[in-house]
Parts: sequence; structure tokens; C-alpha cells
Amino acid sequence: MGSIPDSAPVVRVFIAGGSYAGLSAAVNLLDLGDGLSPRMAHERYQHHPSVPKVKFQITIADERDGYYHLIGSPLALADAEYAKKAWVKFQDIPGLQLPNVQFVQGSVSSVDCEAKTATVVNSVTKEVITHQYDYFVTATGLRRVWPVVPQSLTRKQYLIEVEEQISALDGAKDGVVIVGGGACGIEMAAELKLVKPHLQVTLVHSRDKLMSSEPLPDECKDKSLDMVKEAGVQVLMNHRLASSNKVVAPDGASKYEVEFTNGHKMVASQVIMALSKSTSTASYLPSSATDSEGLVKIIPNMSFESGTPNAASHFCAGDVTKWSGIKRCGAAMHGGHYIAYNIHQSVLKQVVADHQPKFQELQEIPPMIGLAVGKNAVAYGPDVGVVTGPEVMEAYFRDDLGWAICWNYMQLGNQGSDVKTLETKSS
Ligand SMILES: Cc1cc2nc3c(=O)[nH]c(=O)nc-3n(C[C@H](O)[C@H](O)[C@H](O)COP(=O)(O)OP(=O)(O)OC[C@H]3O[C@@H](n4cnc5c(N)ncnc54)[C@H](O)[C@@H]3O)c2cc1C
Repeated sequence: MGSIPDSAPVVRVFIAGGSYAGLSAAVNLLDLGDGLSPRMAHERYQHHPSVPKVKFQITIADERDGYYHLIGSPLALADAEYAKKAWVKFQDIPGLQLPNVQFVQGSVSSVDCEAKTATVVNSVTKEVITHQYDYFVTATGLRRVWPVVPQSLTRKQYLIEVEEQISALDGAKDGVVIVGGGACGIEMAAELKLVKPHLQVTLVHSRDKLMSSEPLPDECKDKSLDMVKEAGVQVLMNHRLASSNKVVAPDGASKYEVEFTNGHKMVASQVIMALSKSTSTASYLPSSATDSEGLVKIIPNMSFESGTPNAASHFCAGDVTKWSGIKRCGAAMHGGHYIAYNIHQSVLKQVVADHQPKFQELQEIPPMIGLAVGKNAVAYGPDVGVVTGPEVMEAYFRDDLGWAICWNYMQLGNQGSDVKTLETKSS
């Protein structure tokens, strides 16, 4: 390497995880490979005159058979029509039906960073296949429990899973108790009440503020409480769950007897645990790449910290990254974009002797959040402070919990020629 290449270099990129972070890395790489600016860029990308194009061969491995809009889960688990929209099979994403993009449905089980190989266990056949790569992107997020997130791996099974949940909730004549007043619990309670106003929905939280484990100002937490109450949800603060026992009547009907450590008791037809028990998915990486919680240690250009072989060829974005800030999909997409940029710069460094790579660097991310609470929304960021109201809902979620915002931002609906990059946007 080092001399100016005669033809476009061929570069294999293996992306583990096909959601916000992984797909953002893929689509921006496709633009860069075509000699365009990345579609998420705010500034025109300066391509090297000697390397106008790169042939990226992209493999995206995911346990699921499609892109699942995770943010929409609180609504998908309450509304069957919306559930259909929230999961799009990879083969039905127009913007990724390209000869140089391959999808593999399976679980990445191990990665040999020295040999640059990733092993995947096929979700259906259980066949084990090892893939070689030049660059690896970790974008597998966090593992979250049911019923915060559907656990199915195929769209078909997922629709059955949500349908069962929705019909169980429909018949909840003794009401639904949602345990855990973090962001997920608040959104689940408010969406359920919005879609099924006939249900008695109770949100219980062990502390005196909602989202008590998040580094957010009290004003944001207090607004969330007001809004969830306005949505018609009954809220029990300072209630720590002691037990929840299912009792089955002689006629086969069942309900739960719920008891709290303060002695309060109630019954409910359904109890949903929305406690934020999320764990790292990156167990397939060598232990040198992760911290004690399994989060991937990166440097600001989003490649692995030194200490892992070929660290500069391995990148990580999204929830499974060890980085500051509340885990958000905007951060995941932003990270995917930066990785694409930095992989392209790394390729240039390899193929052009005098190229000094100029990397995009991730800054520290202060706490910020956008939370949909039924028909209303609250957001907080250091620049805007706490804001609420319909315009916040419109900006952060529109009318589909952000499905179209994410889909359009990644331009997943566009065929190759429709892609809007900075060049085409400004012309
Ligand atoms: C209920 C809920 C509501 C939320 N609401 C909001 C919100 O309003 N706003 C916001 O900004 N954020 C919200 N979030 C957080 C947001 O969803 C995450 O920050 C975002 O999903 C992170 O994206 P990611 O691409 O890193 O990971 P994920 O979206 O988790 O995607 C990871 C992908 O990797 C796949 N995968 C996992 N392990 C493997 C493996 N070993 N092999 C192959 N594939 C694998 C998974 O199947 C998945 O497709 C919410 C989260 C939840 C759970």
C-alpha cells in the first residue's frame, strides 16, 4: 500500500447490528463509496482526487430479520396496526437493496480482532459461518427484557407476540400496573392509556421523582409526572414492589395481587415490569475491548481503545458504547455517521501515501432527552432547557413515535439514485 491506486479499492466492512447505529454506518458508507458526501453530513466531504470511489462490500448481521424501530415499542405493544409499521424486514428496505450490501440473519458469537474474522450463528439454520473483514462496526446495542422490548427474531413471530400482549391488555378488567417510572415505564403507561382509554393504568415508582436514575433537572422530572397524570394514568410514587402473585379463580380467570413495601395492596389483571435492566450485547468481543459492564471502550474517533489487536480497524457506536450521555437513538445515528466518515479516512490513509486522515471526533455528550407522554412530549437539553407541548411532540416524534423521522433521516426509503446528500440537497 502507499502508492496511488489504479482502481477503486475494495474494502470489506462487517457491521454487527442492523438498527440505528449500524444502518447509519452502512448508508453513509455507501455515499462515501460513491464519491458523495455522507447523507448525514452538514459539510461537504472533501474526497481525495486520487481515490474518487471506494468499493465498500458491506455485510450487516442482525439477530432479527429486519429493522425494528425500538423507540416505538410502547406503542407497538399497544396498537397492532402500528406494530406492523415498526418492523421492516431488511429485504423490504429499498435503500439497502444493493449488490454490495449483504444481510445475514444471525447472532454474532465471536470476533477475532487479530485475524479480522467475525463468526455468526444463523438464527434459523444454526449454521455457523465465519466472515473476513477489513473493518468491523459494533452496533448491537443493549439487551432489554420483555415486555419492554419484543423478543422475537422474525417479523412474523413478532406480530404474534405483540398481538398476544395486546389482547391480554384488552381484557385487563382489573387494570394494568406498570412497575418502574423510568423513561420506558412512563412512555409505556402513557401510550397504553392513549390507545386503550378504557383501561385503568397505574404507574408505580419506588422513588419520589420519575426518571430518578437519570441526570436530568428536577423540572424535567416534575413535568413528566404532571404530563403522565394529565394523560389519565394513575401514578403511585414512593411505592416499591414487594410481591406480585398470580391468583387463578375456579373459572380460570386470573389476576395479580400486588403488594408494596409500604403495605399498600392492589389487584391488577396485568403487571408489566418496566425496570431498566439492560445488559451489553458485546460479549462476542475480546474482553480487552470492553469495560466491567461489557460496554465497548472507544477513543473519540469511535475506534476501539488500544489494547485490542487492530484497534484502529474496529469501531463502535450506539447504546453499547462506553460514552457519556443518556442512551438515545439520535446519538446512535450520529455515531454511525461518524464511523462511516472515519472508516473512509482510514482507507485513504492506507491507500494514499501522503494522506493525513482527518477524523470526526465524538464530543462529550451532556444529558438530554425527548420523551413522548401520550399526546404530549417533554424534552430537555442544555441549550433549550425543559420544553413541552405540541411543537415538542412534532419535532421529536411527529405522530408515529419518531418512526418517520428516523426512517427519513437514514433515507431508508430511497433507491440509490434518490439519495439526498449535501451535493444534491444544495443543487
Ligand atoms: C421502550 C424504549 C423507548 C425508547 N425511547 C426513546 C426515545 O424516545 N428517544 C430516544 O432517543 N431513544 C429512545 N430509546 C433508546 C433508543 O431506542 C436506543 O438508544 C437505540 O435503540 C440505540 O440504537 P442502537 O443501534 O445502538 O441499538 P439497538 O436499537 O438496540 O439495535 C441493536 C441491533 O443489534 C442486534 N443485535 C443485538 N445483539 C446482536 C448480536 N450478537 N448479533 C447480531 N445482532 C445483534 C439487535 O437485534 C438490534 O437490531 C428507547 C428505548 C426503549 C427500549
